[in-house]
Amino acid sequence: MDHTIVEQYPLMPLRDIVLFPGMVAPLVVGRKKSIMALEDTMENRSLIFLVTQKDAKVDDPSQEHLYTVGTLASVMQLLRLPDGTIKALVEGKSRARMHQMQLQGEGEDLYFTADLTVIEEEPADTNEVQAYIRELKKAFDTYAQGNKKLPREVLNSVTSIDDPSRLVDLISSHVYLKTEEKQQILEKVSVLERISLVLEILYREMELSAMEKDIHAKVKKKMSSTQRNYYLSEKVRVIQDEMGQGEGGDDLSEIEQAINKKSLPKYALEKVTKEFKKLRQMPPMSAETTVVRNYIDTILDLPWKKKSRSKIDIERAEVVLDEDHYGLEKPKERILEYLAVQAQVKKLRGPILCLVGPPGVGKTSVCKSIARAMSRKFIRLSLGGVRDEAEIRGHRRTYIGAMPGKIILSMQKAGVVNPVFCLDEVDKMSVDFRGDPSAALLEVLDPEQNYAFNDHYLDLDYDLSGVFFITTANNLHGIPLPLQDRMEIIQLNGYTEEEKLHIAKDFLLPKQLEANGFKEDEIQLDDEAFLEVIRLYTREAGVRNLERTMAAICRKIARERQKNKTPDKRYSLKSEDVSTYLGVAKYRYGLAEKNNEIGLATGMAWTEVGGELLQIESTIMPGAGKLTITGKLGDVMQESAQAALTYVRSRAMRLGLEADFYQKIDVHVHVPEGAIPKDGPSAGITIATSIVSAILKLPVDRNLAMTGEITLRGRVLPIGGLTEKLLAAKRGKITRVLIPKENERNLKDVPEPILSSLDVQLVDDVDQVLEEALIRKQGEDLFKDVPVDSIFSDFTLSAHNTPAQ
Ligand code: ADP
Repeated sequence: MDHTIVEQYPLMPLRDIVLFPGMVAPLVVGRKKSIMALEDTMENRSLIFLVTQKDAKVDDPSQEHLYTVGTLASVMQLLRLPDGTIKALVEGKSRARMHQMQLQGEGEDLYFTADLTVIEEEPADTNEVQAYIRELKKAFDTYAQGNKKLPREVLNSVTSIDDPSRLVDLISSHVYLKTEEKQQILEKVSVLERISLVLEILYREMELSAMEKDIHAKVKKKMSSTQRNYYLSEKVRVIQDEMGQGEGGDDLSEIEQAINKKSLPKYALEKVTKEFKKLRQMPPMSAETTVVRNYIDTILDLPWKKKSRSKIDIERAEVVLDEDHYGLEKPKERILEYLAVQAQVKKLRGPILCLVGPPGVGKTSVCKSIARAMSRKFIRLSLGGVRDEAEIRGHRRTYIGAMPGKIILSMQKAGVVNPVFCLDEVDKMSVDFRGDPSAALLEVLDPEQNYAFNDHYLDLDYDLSGVFFITTANNLHGIPLPLQDRMEIIQLNGYTEEEKLHIAKDFLLPKQLEANGFKEDEIQLDDEAFLEVIRLYTREAGVRNLERTMAAICRKIARERQKNKTPDKRYSLKSEDVSTYLGVAKYRYGLAEKNNEIGLATGMAWTEVGGELLQIESTIMPGAGKLTITGKLGDVMQESAQAALTYVRSRAMRLGLEADFYQKIDVHVHVPEGAIPKDGPSAGITIATSIVSAILKLPVDRNLAMTGEITLRGRVLPIGGLTEKLLAAKRGKITRVLIPKENERNLKDVPEPILSSLDVQLVDDVDQVLEEALIRKQGEDLFKDVPVDSIFSDFTLSAHNTPAQ
């Protein structure tokens, strides 16, 4: 009985296969329309209508080339193969009848959809059906005994299925039949009729097979053994051809050749030979075959012994690093030292390099240069967002759709056993209930263990000890401690304006010129123009956006040349030309305010993308002692604000305020721009300055930026990320900075060009900060001459139980 509702589904024509409801089948799909139909199905999580072609040879079938009854199926899995085809695992759900098919989509992306009605199964639990089913089972059993190719599991599943309709369909799909006959079975909607048809076919097949045996026995007697072998192999070929699986046969011999050619360690060869034997005995189109096939392919695609010829030549390494990168003296020096040691010990041992720094400072590209310097292949794997151990180590093969982990997949890509392997974003892995990926990574990176890395899918030890691993991260704190333990950390800082200028001029622009098809020097920018781009169109610690902007200029000019038909015109841009190509400036140069403002203080914050200036505003209004904090603030910042206010209260008398001044006002602190890092921007002293400025109505020096956490007693605590923060100040045209006294020792790590342009003052007390930051009339003291703030000292003295002076 047909459903009356007409529904529309994507359609995919099948060649030589009829899919029955309840069956799972792997399909290799190459036709563009079919791929589009599959993709649409996956996207909309819908079903797909699979219908068989009357003639398998038609490449672009229309409705008259297709049968009308087909199967609605769900797509369980899609695997894109390198040659552009797709392997799809589908499961038949129900029969359906097509009324009309039509083209869908536009341009290149066309595919068919079909208007169809789903055919409902009629109830089939009559005694008659049961009797038929018994007969069918018996017949199939006999058929299967005469046919050794049928896998045992099929027989088992036949006995376990109760639903008559499913049962006939299962049996039909396993009997070797011509496509037309299978289609006939599919079209039989009535279960009873379907069973009789299948029975008829089974009887016929068994009779034929008995006759065949008879002939075979007669012929065999007459044949010598060589003839016999020839005959047998011919027979296999003919049968396979007949079943449309001729290619399958070739395939097998191809695999066999590949196994023989590949140089594999003994244990891997044994394993792959065993799997190959299994593969040979399986029917070519079963789901299990695909699994075994994929496994063998995985082993064969992996490099086991092949190496790049590589030697560490320190002089060459130095040249290569300098050729590819401007500046970076310290990191380069450290890398060369590291390589020198590796060269001496011959075998890779010891800590793994970890390059830490904001995005776009050249971490990945330094790794590439190292590979070039060592004449090794380079591969890269981003660990950002990896939270499942199985992503690193793969799934066991018993899972449907199991795959090797990312490490093994990357090694396949590398094709050699000794690439330079860059693991990006090790700080971005996360741990959850699916296991801890960093534990797996430890095994990968540890030279004591990684000669026998165990991928769950591969299930064979794989030797990673020849790989040169380098890791990169934005944030040292994000790297799990056990991993950090095995790493040699090399810090890459953001660039100053001058460095960016050199990089843009000597590296980024030439690179983009080449990439966009310009000849050398066809586009030139003078220094002012470069600076204009750096200052007004990018604001970043690294040079990634700068590189993008160079690319944008190249594209715009390419377009202009084409449009004006002046393909050879040379361009040399001055600063005033920049906006013609890049549009309105994205940023204001220098964050400093025009005037010294009341309640507005500038802080320096550290984020994963480099240093940032942070402007904090405070306002006070009549009220009852409420503190409101707005803007995108982390928890730490909330606490900083509380601590800052407490500090102000403790200094009330010295600042010339009444002891209960805060009960009459409300304070509102706001952070207008919200690049707020997780672990707190160390903005305590900035918030305190802004609040005091608002309360005392004294403006803050606009050329000053500061950083430091604060204690209740007003001590200034040290901070991290000093270099990045100072760079941000320099970018923002700040001239004077306040940093915690305890950070004095970090100043030696800050590159000289940054320090020379800033007036750095060390502070260890918020009182000092306020003295420096708040602008007063000449000769006016900020703190009144009250020796010790009385509320505060009373409290301290009694709390410590010391006698009053
Ligand atoms: P990261 O991995 O740190 O995020 P990338 O290595 O992707 O950064 O670098 C971004 C781009 O900037 C690359 O094209 C790189 O070549 C270029 N680059 C970065 N630093 C330098 C430098 N010091 N000299 C020349 N080019 C650089």
